[in-house]
Amino acid sequence: MKSVVRVGSLKIGANNPVVVKGMIKSSFDDRAGLIKEAKALEKEGCQILRIAIEKKQDAQIIDILKSRINIPVEADIHFDYRLAILSLEKGVDCLRLNPLNINKLKQIRQVVALAKDKDIPIRVGVNSGGFKGKRSEDLLVSSMAKEIFSYIKIMENLKFKKIMVSAKAPSARVTLKVNQLLYKKLDYPIHLGLTATGPFYEGLIKSSITLGILLYQGIGSALRVSLNSSSLEEVKAAKVILQSLGLGFFYPEIISCPTCSRCKVDLRAKVEKFKKILNSNSNNSYNKKVKIALMGCPVNGPGEASSADIGIAFGKNYGVLFKEGRPIKRIGHKLYSKVLLDSLK
Ligand code: SF4
Repeated sequence: MKSVVRVGSLKIGANNPVVVKGMIKSSFDDRAGLIKEAKALEKEGCQILRIAIEKKQDAQIIDILKSRINIPVEADIHFDYRLAILSLEKGVDCLRLNPLNINKLKQIRQVVALAKDKDIPIRVGVNSGGFKGKRSEDLLVSSMAKEIFSYIKIMENLKFKKIMVSAKAPSARVTLKVNQLLYKKLDYPIHLGLTATGPFYEGLIKSSITLGILLYQGIGSALRVSLNSSSLEEVKAAKVILQSLGLGFFYPEIISCPTCSRCKVDLRAKVEKFKKILNSNSNNSYNKKVKIALMGCPVNGPGEASSADIGIAFGKNYGVLFKEGRPIKRIGHKLYSKVLLDSLK
């Protein structure tokens, strides 16, 4: 049985829902911007907020964030174990330590002792970028796993078991292999992610493939999508990946066809407009577990529209509204969003 770790009030691991994590990208020099970003991430559905603590003063933000948001805060620490100690003293809910740059036994002992005292979990997180020189895929996988295993051994010898692990690489294959290995060998919850995924479009596809495969195999208890984009886009992408696999519900699902020469309406514009309307709905009153189909013609349109909860198959002059599999009525093209929203109420 895989172990469960608590971060704040969240349970991570075993059969608990996969947790969506987000990372602050604002500079610590822009404190107002940073807090704004944290609040926006919480509103978007981020469940654990990760912040990079690089120097002593950065740790001041922990108190402030804890009073302004209601989700747990994870402090990401590299090189200086004293920042981990300070973050724990400031009340952080979780630590991330990098075994490649905080590895002196005496220092690990001090951090673990305080984490144990405060009952705070530690994520042991290795990135492939921490290894110098060119390595083969398999050597990189075994090197990353070896670092994690030996760090965990130290922690277990100190009778500390509130552990999570992560192993990330820019390579889909390396990330897949190393996480499969961690899952096979360890009982601790795995935080999934890739790192340095490249330009947005490529990163999104690479993340979807890699994280999708692992999640489908039952691997991964927490998820952070790393993109060359805003932190909000990362959280949105994580939600789409989870919902696509049936591992959570976060937004009404829109099914729409790719269009072809049979399509006689500007379906792309209609889909985008409708998505914007749903997203801009501030009180989330349309945020129901529904499938909404927007289809481009009467060929495949009625089939898909009727398999969704509600849908419209657009023809040249009008669309047909379907509800729970049955055609309800004809509607004018311009009325489609109003009719769909009314049906969602
Ligand atoms: S539903 Fe109609 S318009 Fe859309 S792709 Fe299929 S055949 Fe083409």
